[in-house]
Amino acid sequence: MSSFGYKKLDGNTGYGSIPPPSTTSDQGAYPTDPPAAPAPGMYQGGSPPEVSIVPSSSSIVNAPYSAGVAATGYNVPPEGGMAVPSAPPPMMEPLAGYEGVGFTVSDFLAPPTPFMSAAPSAPPIERPEFSIGPTWTDEEVRDALLEHVSHFCCYGSGTAKNMVITDKIGTSAYHYRLETFGEGRQVNWTFKPYAMGTFVDGPENGRALGPWEIPVHITEYFKDFTQKLEIPHTSFVRPCHTCSTAGMVICQSCFGKGRKLCSHCHGTGHRHVGSERRNCMFCHGHKTVLCKTCHGKCFVICPSCEANRNLRFYLELTIQWKNHVEDYIFSENSLPPNLIKDVSGTTAFEETHLRVWPINHFMIPQINQASYNLINKHGSAFPTERILQQKQTIRIVPVLEVEYTWNNKKSDFFVYGLEKKVHAPKYPQKCCCGCAIL
Ligand SMILES: [Zn+2]
Ligand SMILES: [Zn+2]
Ligand SMILES: [Zn+2]
Repeated sequence: MSSFGYKKLDGNTGYGSIPPPSTTSDQGAYPTDPPAAPAPGMYQGGSPPEVSIVPSSSSIVNAPYSAGVAATGYNVPPEGGMAVPSAPPPMMEPLAGYEGVGFTVSDFLAPPTPFMSAAPSAPPIERPEFSIGPTWTDEEVRDALLEHVSHFCCYGSGTAKNMVITDKIGTSAYHYRLETFGEGRQVNWTFKPYAMGTFVDGPENGRALGPWEIPVHITEYFKDFTQKLEIPHTSFVRPCHTCSTAGMVICQSCFGKGRKLCSHCHGTGHRHVGSERRNCMFCHGHKTVLCKTCHGKCFVICPSCEANRNLRFYLELTIQWKNHVEDYIFSENSLPPNLIKDVSGTTAFEETHLRVWPINHFMIPQINQASYNLINKHGSAFPTERILQQKQTIRIVPVLEVEYTWNNKKSDFFVYGLEKKVHAPKYPQKCCCGCAIL
């Protein structure tokens, strides 16, 4: 069995040729034999292959690299100009386990079965207990409303000061959160400028490890992060395809002309002062100015090889750690649930495992159900990721519904969260514009 055991979800890009793992017992096994000898013509390592340093592109060879010539006999380049003489990257010899990898970043690769953490088959023996949140006095409630009112420039504070609190109904909102921390990997060919004589870590130095075999260090769990690294033993040196080994490419700013249309006089060479026509003081009547990008040389250093004329191609592994967060809010009151997520509460339950087991012992059955539903959902929602850890938390956010009378009118408002935020859409002393000081 030569398969590395990576599942490719769709065959569109990159890894199309890697067969999916079989369902037999060797699923996910990695080959123990070294890869086959490189194909004839493949770069064998050691000293780099001989490449011509004579530019093969006639458009470069024939264009004199001279500012003097470029600065005379200038014609304004047409819109769009000429293209940089450039070829697509060369076809790379297939590396065992990486056949079909292209230069564009592929889809994420499904981890092989041995890397998947299985969902637990039973709840943990010991689970954290639940804790309950605080209650507030009338004065605390009044202060909270006064603080809220002070943020609105045209709210009157009289209601908050003089209201008679008739009832306080203490309820809670329950915020369940599931976090699933996963790791995704993808592979693509890429290249760097290659300086002659420097070390090239090619396939002759050993087997290229499969994308999920490469060890990485996780710095922080439950935080999004991306890391790119070079896969060892996958390097080849090739002549630069962008400049055809010339080391320089035509300047794209002036399209190889060395000069650009003067933007001050729009290429007319003159300007009008009253009825008098004078030479443009920027181009002195020449209509064009020296190109600042190439300083009139018509060419610039090749961006691909940085004048090294050669490139080192290698396989690049992109590792993406992602924290998938999903919330469920159950509330015993009419306070809009979206207000609950961003305020503080009491952490009633927190559990972190490789894979968590649904909460089934909380006093609110809707929270138990949400835990079950979201854990089930996350179990299959990220098929191209290896789940590294899961965390589930329940926060109890205190919500107090306060009823009061003011000027013989009944009204109410909410105080919620440990920071005692106020939701008072019915506050009577509001001005019409409803402006807020942020
Ligand atoms: Zn001008
Ligand atoms: Zn230029
Ligand atoms: Zn180049």
